[in-house]
Amino acid sequence: MAKVKCAWFDFASCEGCQIELTNYGEPFVELLQHIEIVEFREVMTEKTEAPIDVAFIEGSFTRESDRAKLERIRDRAAVVVAYGSCATCGGINALKNHTDDYKQEVYGADADKPHLDSTKALPISAAIKVDYEVKGCPMDKDEFLGIVQQLVHGTAKVYVPSYPVCVECKRRGTVCRFDEGDYCLGPIAQAGCGAPCPADGIPCEACRGMVQDANQKSMEKVLMENGKLPERWAKQKTRMFTANFREDA
Ligand code: SF4
Ligand code: SF4
Ligand code: SF4
Repeated sequence: MAKVKCAWFDFASCEGCQIELTNYGEPFVELLQHIEIVEFREVMTEKTEAPIDVAFIEGSFTRESDRAKLERIRDRAAVVVAYGSCATCGGINALKNHTDDYKQEVYGADADKPHLDSTKALPISAAIKVDYEVKGCPMDKDEFLGIVQQLVHGTAKVYVPSYPVCVECKRRGTVCRFDEGDYCLGPIAQAGCGAPCPADGIPCEACRGMVQDANQKSMEKVLMENGKLPERWAKQKTRMFTANFREDA
């Protein structure tokens, strides 16, 4: 059986999802028996303009000048997989969507340099059709591997739970962060990760995005009243990974 030709591309991101993948070890090495990597900047220098079976895209769409690049990838790829929060919901980059002076705050005197020119951070699906998404910051390696394994055999079916992280957290019997005097975004966070953060004693930050019809306003209130967060922090927290889901974002 011919190997599946795969290429990796990155846009506005920290490249942490690529690192996550290369750190996967044995399962990734086994996968190499079934896929041929034809482009992957993090691990090789070769590039290709030929048709590809699967394009994996990391990072958010934040420059209009990237649209043509993304369209070219879409034209060449039979399947497009966006992976990581940056690519699937804008991710942490979308924090800048709430402020006009982020460039001055971050880059100071260099703020007007042309390479820093960008607009809102949006998911890749805002520019091109995306066939599959792997959520999380960084992306969930097992979910990623599951999709790739299925694609090697044809098409993939992805199950996205409709419930929040709290359900998975309760299932594993973790003591609630709020009971520990902490805050947590589990009630509005999209499940699927198995709630590892509260189990490790840290709050869920909703890195996979929010459940449909999440009540952000109520979440903000709970963060202030039960989590003891100041109003500004409560607002920032509820839109940290979810800027593009909010009507007031
Ligand atoms: S999703 Fe997180 S780890 Fe992945 S590229 Fe974006 S910021 Fe980095
Ligand atoms: S720790 Fe967070 S995810 Fe777990 S039950 Fe409490 S609010 Fe929900
Ligand atoms: S518990 Fe929350 S922050 Fe942690 S991986 Fe799951 S969605 Fe992301």
